[in-house]
Amino acid sequence: MVAYSTFFSPPVLHFRSPWESTLSKLNYFFPDSQDFVDPSFDFLKETRNEHRVRQRDDLYPHEVFKRDFPFPYDGMLVSKAVVDGLGNGESKYTRAQRLRFYRAKMKRFFRLPEQMLSMGDCGAFTYVHHENPPYRIDEIIDFYEDSQFDYGVSLDHIVFGYDTPKKIITGADLDECCRRQQLTLELAEKFLIASKDAHFQPFGVAHGWNKETYAESVQALLKMGYKRITMGGMVPLKTPQILETLAEIKPHLKTDTQVHLLGIARPESFNDFIRLGVTSIDSTTPLAQAFKDKKNNYHVVDGDAYVAIRVPQSDGNLTLSRKIKSGEVDQDRARILERLTLKALRAYDNREIELESTLNVLMEYETLHAGEDKAGKIRASYMRTLSDRPWEKCDCEVCQSIGINVIIFRGAERNRRRGFHNIQVLYKKLQHTLTL
Ligand SMILES: [Zn+2]
Repeated sequence: MVAYSTFFSPPVLHFRSPWESTLSKLNYFFPDSQDFVDPSFDFLKETRNEHRVRQRDDLYPHEVFKRDFPFPYDGMLVSKAVVDGLGNGESKYTRAQRLRFYRAKMKRFFRLPEQMLSMGDCGAFTYVHHENPPYRIDEIIDFYEDSQFDYGVSLDHIVFGYDTPKKIITGADLDECCRRQQLTLELAEKFLIASKDAHFQPFGVAHGWNKETYAESVQALLKMGYKRITMGGMVPLKTPQILETLAEIKPHLKTDTQVHLLGIARPESFNDFIRLGVTSIDSTTPLAQAFKDKKNNYHVVDGDAYVAIRVPQSDGNLTLSRKIKSGEVDQDRARILERLTLKALRAYDNREIELESTLNVLMEYETLHAGEDKAGKIRASYMRTLSDRPWEKCDCEVCQSIGINVIIFRGAERNRRRGFHNIQVLYKKLQHTLTL
């Protein structure tokens, strides 16, 4: 048996613990979802090195940004469900990647810099519709230990819903909330005991369906002996609901309690989070918004986000392919307009043509692939993006190296780089808040 004291003192693998000394710091963890970019991608020819091995030869955000801040986040969060799937063979990782992950361990697989933290969790969002979590506690502990994480989050089951003045959860729904909360607490207690000789630092997950029940969970976890609490299931909550819950738990926290908000960023609330005892957050929202949001695709440190310019591939975009197949859109015309649009955008970036003529070509293609109605609605937003040239004002490595391509909505290599840009914007906002 390992000496009792190892549970309370940082283990050998745990090279730094910034949270103990700087509790006012808010750490940002970047959740892994196999998001990397291929450095061999040629934006002009739209080709890549054919010998490139996915993931191994690709770059994560911490390998792309190196100038302003050492890195665009303080650590990475990796879910067992993302690496292993839910036991049905399906996962975001190929078998080869999974084997390499377990062989190389967390830090080496992600090529994480020494000072960067690593956190593991179960990925409860992926099994939210299961009756019970699909993992056992010993499997979770093995996952954290084998991968050499700094922090490991207890096995949990997400509680649905949150009480509002108009709708208080009752009946069978309330029974299910209670069952899941109780199950999560029982699992947390077993997890804490089972991980007492482990090399990672345990986090216990708190779930609830109003501020009082969240506070009950937090109190129970603290009583078990947890020093680190993860607030789970808050992603669908409105910001005032998150803040009222944090205010409710604040009086129960000890001076050295660390609080992680799972899946939450919300830069407008950074100050409130810090004031209410939150010590770390994680979120993929800035990355996802680059290609999932209707308008807020390209973030900036000050001011409103910009819409990215849609130039779908005439032979790769699903919606466009469907229209071509049905005869609604002429394929040759689509190809020509696509090429002309890309050419015009490049020329505009180089200041070889005016805004108006760029916009004309762009709108012609937009009308073809999106229809006249949608094209009319997005025109003003495109004009703002093009005339403001935000990619020229950003000094990040992505914008500096690929110029206007960062704001073109087209294919994973461009869209993901825009997501990476958004991540470093979030981190800049966070650093700005911390230095105020
Ligand atoms: Zn940038």
